[in-house]
Amino acid sequence: GATLGVMGGGQLGRMFVHAAQSMGYATAVLDADPTSPAGLVSHTHIQTAYLDADGLARMSAVAAAVTTEFENVPAEALDTLAATRPVAPSGAAVSVCQDRAREKAHFTGCGVPCAPHAVIDSPEQLAAVPDSLLPGILKTARMGYDGKGQVRVKTRDELNAAWADLKQVTCVLEKMLPLAFEVSVIVARGRDGTVVNFPVQRNLHRDGILAVTTAPAPGVAPELAAQAVANARQIAASLNYVGVLCIEFFVLADGTLVANEMAPRPHNSGHHTIDACDVSQFEMQVRCMTGLPLVEPVLHSPCLMLNLLGDLWFPAGSTTQVEPDWAGVLTLSGTHLHLYGKTDARKGRKMGHLTVTGATPEAARDVALKAAALLGIEAF
Ligand code: ATP
Ligand code: MG
Ligand code: MG
Repeated sequence: GATLGVMGGGQLGRMFVHAAQSMGYATAVLDADPTSPAGLVSHTHIQTAYLDADGLARMSAVAAAVTTEFENVPAEALDTLAATRPVAPSGAAVSVCQDRAREKAHFTGCGVPCAPHAVIDSPEQLAAVPDSLLPGILKTARMGYDGKGQVRVKTRDELNAAWADLKQVTCVLEKMLPLAFEVSVIVARGRDGTVVNFPVQRNLHRDGILAVTTAPAPGVAPELAAQAVANARQIAASLNYVGVLCIEFFVLADGTLVANEMAPRPHNSGHHTIDACDVSQFEMQVRCMTGLPLVEPVLHSPCLMLNLLGDLWFPAGSTTQVEPDWAGVLTLSGTHLHLYGKTDARKGRKMGHLTVTGATPEAARDVALKAAALLGIEAF
């Protein structure tokens, strides 16, 4: 079959490669790291940086269509590749998602509420921030992920110090909102404008990193779920987006829905779709970029997804890396283990995930709690 290219070699790229290969495609991964999770399993591994002219030429020579798994891939690289083949998502759409200020402006333009915020680009703008945004979270406009590049600030003094600490790069100060919980919606949009969506999932973050995803989302009334889905579809359509897109939302204590941010790619909160849906988010990305039909995906099993962070490799103060008890976890029925081929476990590093499917949400949760206890993951 044809070769599909992916910019970036992380775990998202690896799972994309798995989906593409199972549909008969060859793959090309562009990532400078010789041991990148996706590069290790791809037919072709182009070991260069994203904007390297030689790497782009090599990608150009092999790939019938290109996607990205890394949201900070330079938009110019996607534009260059798009001159001679389909690229999904486009450089223009990705560049909106790379900048929190533009992202929030897009949400607002779609009539989707987001957190009250101010863009801070200069000492004058810093001084002009209204008191109503404190306490708040100062976030770098670009390049942040897993809670990195964010500082929680209570007072104006803390805000000033935080902006200095962040080297005075362009930031967004967001008002700290009273969250009841968080949800996300993954949509996919085809070149012909067809949009499909996965059901809403509920996400638990710990230390700014996704820890647990549950689908269907418990505690979400049908009207709230419908609103989140409608918002996500509207955001994709108005970006003229092609590909898989994830929108993260906050549900506030009073039940209000607020958009947080979006990711122009398959998302960690959609990993359960591999084992719990008839079409996974990665297969959906393949379908989007190749112009294959999009069908509404069906969640066939209630499930939970547990992220397996590098912390688990260092049980109870161990200073050397110890492989977790996979055999113990796999003894439980309904467990689906995914490891990303990373050999070097570090605190907070995403090493893999475990999806637990069950006949009922309660049964899945029961097994997930047992698996968590075995692995040393805090109960949820
Ligand atoms: P990701 O890895 O999802 O891209 P990120 O580093 O871009 O994360 P955000 O999603 O902006 O970070 O924030 C991380 C988490 O911090 C959120 O999931 C939420 O739990 C909390 N958070 C962020 N902004 C706010 C806010 N305005 N009010 C309350 N909590 C917030
Ligand atoms: Mg983010
Ligand atoms: Mg986030």
